[in-house]
Amino acid sequence: MPSTLHEQLLAKLAPFFPGKETVGSYVGGELLAGSGAAIKLVDPATGREFLSYPDAGGELVARAARAAVEGQRAWAALTAAQRGRVMYEIGRVVRANLEPLAQLESLSAGKPIRDCRGEVTKVAEMFEYYAGWTDKLHGEVIPVPSGHMNYTRREPFGVLLLITPWNAPVFTCGWNVAPAIAAGNAVLLKPSELTPLSSLALASLAEQAGLPRGVFNVLSGHGHTTGQAAIACPAVKKVVFVGSPATGGKIAAAAAARGIPCVLELGGKSANIVFEDADLTRACIGAQSAIFAAAGQSCVAGSRLLVQRSIYDRFVAMVAEGARRLRTGSPLLPETEVGPIQNARQYGHVLAMIKAGLREGAQVAEGSDGQPAQEGFFVRPTVMKNVRNDMEIARTEVFGPVVVAIPFDTEEEAVAIANDSEFGLAGAVWTHDVARAHRVASLVKAGTFWINTYKVINVASPFGGYDASGYGRSSGTEALREYTQVKSVWVETSAHPAVAFGYAPGIGA
Ligand code: ADP
Repeated sequence: MPSTLHEQLLAKLAPFFPGKETVGSYVGGELLAGSGAAIKLVDPATGREFLSYPDAGGELVARAARAAVEGQRAWAALTAAQRGRVMYEIGRVVRANLEPLAQLESLSAGKPIRDCRGEVTKVAEMFEYYAGWTDKLHGEVIPVPSGHMNYTRREPFGVLLLITPWNAPVFTCGWNVAPAIAAGNAVLLKPSELTPLSSLALASLAEQAGLPRGVFNVLSGHGHTTGQAAIACPAVKKVVFVGSPATGGKIAAAAAARGIPCVLELGGKSANIVFEDADLTRACIGAQSAIFAAAGQSCVAGSRLLVQRSIYDRFVAMVAEGARRLRTGSPLLPETEVGPIQNARQYGHVLAMIKAGLREGAQVAEGSDGQPAQEGFFVRPTVMKNVRNDMEIARTEVFGPVVVAIPFDTEEEAVAIANDSEFGLAGAVWTHDVARAHRVASLVKAGTFWINTYKVINVASPFGGYDASGYGRSSGTEALREYTQVKSVWVETSAHPAVAFGYAPGIGA
């Protein structure tokens, strides 16, 4: 029975890479060590280092780009229906490996095992959903006013760079890889340097399912080294990024310098609005899962709880009581509902934000006062009350299990507070008034909005942000548009076409 976390992890990784002891990058179907400095991984449940691996570095990036160009050719040479069958098989193989993948994710990223099982299941759904789209990506015939036939083709970009964060590693990997390859691209995936293992495993499983080598490459390493080298790579034609707004800005600037487009999926400070006529028991459960699931390390977390003043005290007390009962603990225990913060830097940020809230006059109704735990990066589910929307704790993304409760009087005020944020990722309203529910849904600026529910997302539905939460969409049919480019083809069909210098006659008539 393996004892240390290091040994346990290597044992979990071994079935995905038989005979290999290295943790590195997956390039052209091979697990390879990088040439950069060692990256040390720390167990968030204990704060102790458990693994180190080399940063991929520039040479491996160049090798991966060559492999991706080759891989994309092989992938595009298949018929669309064949590609669909491979993608469906990836979904099946992921389902067959649900438990090993979930355990690898839980151990290496410090996420509760119950969340990991759910997320791996979602990854299978992502490949299955896009499997059905591969042979439905057709263009249109445009009725142009001349003797030409004009039609469009949706073509892949070629090689895409996908940069993902540490909060939901395997989920964001599948979320971006599935539509990218369904559209006929190959990918370089640069997972967070803190959580590369589940992405490596997924790439290996995808090849086991029949994906040609080189279509799905994983570059494990830092953003400022490996990530930047990949953005600078001429083979990369588009960058898809999921992460913090500050890093998104750097990535967009580097991509703009090369004249290539980006999709940015950034943070949020989403408003969860509860009216006095709502089913308060359901709203309370919704408010808790909105912020405490994944220990609040979720871009769509309902981190601002806007509560009508008439029920403010009662409802905040209900949420606080619920928070008190949540089971915080080791990620691998099946009963754990709230795990640790994933890394030391983020942990410091969460504690500092709680302290900033207290300095500005907010009060802790339940949870942490900003003092560190005795061991590991744990923060108790925290409810802060008497918060104003101009306080830092209500404006800055905490990305931790901390909800701020803000009172409001009228619907108009609720909408104004919800929209008084630089972000626009998500939001929700709880009410029995159908007209109000749809009115508020239409008035709140957010890429995703929920009515009497929270945090349901599905690969079939478009997802993305307004304002500082980013641009572009990363799921549903919208993602297929993001991951393809449109070619317009003109065909002369007249028996006696006019040969003219400049615009052909008839156009614009
Ligand atoms: P956090 O700040 O919480 O660590 P980031 O948004 O910085 O999260 O990280 C998300 C992803 O962006 C990770 O894969 C990370 O390695 C990558 N990244 C960070 N900085 C850069 C950069 N300068 N260029 C490219 N990628 C980066």
